[in-house]
Amino acid sequence: MSSGRKFIVVLGSIMSGLGKGILTASIGRLLKTRGYKVTPIKFDGYMNVDCGTMNPFRHGEVFVLDDGGEVDMDFGTYERFLNISLPSRSSITGGKMSRLILEKERRGDYLGRDVQVVPHLTNEIKSWIKAVGEETKSDIVLIEVGGTVGDLENGYFVEAMHQLSKEENVLFIQLTYVPSLSPGEQKTKPTQHANRLIQSLGIKPNIIICREQEPLQKESKEKIALFCDVPIENVLDDPLVETVYQLPEVLEKQKLYEAIARHFKLRQTKVHEGNWNRMVNRIVSKDKKRVTIGIVGKYTAVKDAYVSVREAILHAAAANNVHADIAFVESTDIEKEGTKILESLDGIIVPGGFGKRGIEGKILSIRHARKNGIPYLGLCLGMQLMVAEYARDVCGMEGANSEEFDSGTAYPVIAILPEQLNIIEKGATMRLGAYPCLLKEKTKAWECYGRRAEISERHRHRYEVNPKFTEALENGGLIFSGRSPRNNIVEMSEWKEGFGIGTQAHPELKSRLEAPAPLFVGFIKAAIDRKKKMRGNGKKKEEKK
Ligand code: GLN
Repeated sequence: MSSGRKFIVVLGSIMSGLGKGILTASIGRLLKTRGYKVTPIKFDGYMNVDCGTMNPFRHGEVFVLDDGGEVDMDFGTYERFLNISLPSRSSITGGKMSRLILEKERRGDYLGRDVQVVPHLTNEIKSWIKAVGEETKSDIVLIEVGGTVGDLENGYFVEAMHQLSKEENVLFIQLTYVPSLSPGEQKTKPTQHANRLIQSLGIKPNIIICREQEPLQKESKEKIALFCDVPIENVLDDPLVETVYQLPEVLEKQKLYEAIARHFKLRQTKVHEGNWNRMVNRIVSKDKKRVTIGIVGKYTAVKDAYVSVREAILHAAAANNVHADIAFVESTDIEKEGTKILESLDGIIVPGGFGKRGIEGKILSIRHARKNGIPYLGLCLGMQLMVAEYARDVCGMEGANSEEFDSGTAYPVIAILPEQLNIIEKGATMRLGAYPCLLKEKTKAWECYGRRAEISERHRHRYEVNPKFTEALENGGLIFSGRSPRNNIVEMSEWKEGFGIGTQAHPELKSRLEAPAPLFVGFIKAAIDRKKKMRGNGKKKEEKK
């Protein structure tokens, strides 16, 4: 029997990389602003249980949820667009499904039966999806099917979606690509073939959304409508936008909500996204004060490795009504060429990371920021290295380091967390998810968070500031502005002078356009102030001449 809940399934066709995640999030936004409770679910075909064990270089950033789930970076897009926190169960992977089935089989749950893709695996998928809808009390569940239709990896999942449509009220959206052979020569045939492939699997897309190289022509729409058997109003254009946050409005204007509402028989309502649009305009408007923020990292050639950091900078810049240019700096370049490349920056961030490569370049960058009064924000590893730099340069602890990079150092100022000592397995074993933090009054971190006594941010790490050294570091002048209420772990550190804050957490993961991360907002403000001051100093020097 149908639950009465509604399900929207987004399928990718022809090729990957068309922006299914952003589309799914945008659809969610159109529904959420109309008062519906929506929850997105994503299926990824890989056989890893989660992406915690994947290299960001290959797979993009690992996103962490409040409950500690390590998930695909699309979840960051969902949360940023919908301004909600999702549970780990929103992420279904090939690995999770296999583990579930095999555990059940060993337990004897299928005793006497041969366990098959259909119906056992497909039934598990359907139950999972229905249960998430129920647990989150959602009106509408959005399901993004990772990969492309026709892939071997997601075939059983697509079949489960076909079966779901026999049991529940489901709307299918085909995301496709309409290439142009030359300007004006738009080709719809790949879409037609892809649509037939989907139909051969028992699924008839209700809405077709087209990425393209040039605006979707009327004739292209007509052809797609005719050959794919959808009303022409249900063929929509998904153009390249300046910022992804514009997509909900682009789809709104083409009446996507109306098409969905017709299918599900929902109320036809209009909404005005005042606050959201204001923030989007701030991101795209050109005549703005600018600041340049450097991210000193290791995977800087792969922009996807630091998506949430980049987005948090954009949110905070919009909140401060400035434009932020982001410069990705490879930390090994600093080791080879020195800190000259950092001179044009108004603010420096060292983001999270693992492994020894590039560590010394990051430490040099932090020192450059501290000595030159450049605002600094250290995220997880960036905080640990901030402590090591301070220990070496100010507290006289020569060679101070994290045990992760130098197990023989005389000053292991960053040490393995006690609960991590005996862990051998790699998957989902770090200190993960949301933890509370008590802020010390009158510190910069406390000011950034609006003078709140307790905050909560998400974590993903194995090491911590070594409690054996905290007193010496504090005596040397380093301020520990945040501590864990449970075991006193140092959660935040800061410099006395200028703006320099390190956090053991990843505040970028909770930054949203509508709720920018407080530390980023404070950091960008400090970058603006410094730029102004430097200008002022420059002018004074000119006048003296
Ligand atoms: N490698 C460090 C640790 O495990 C930092 C992790 C991070 O930056 N996310 O503690």
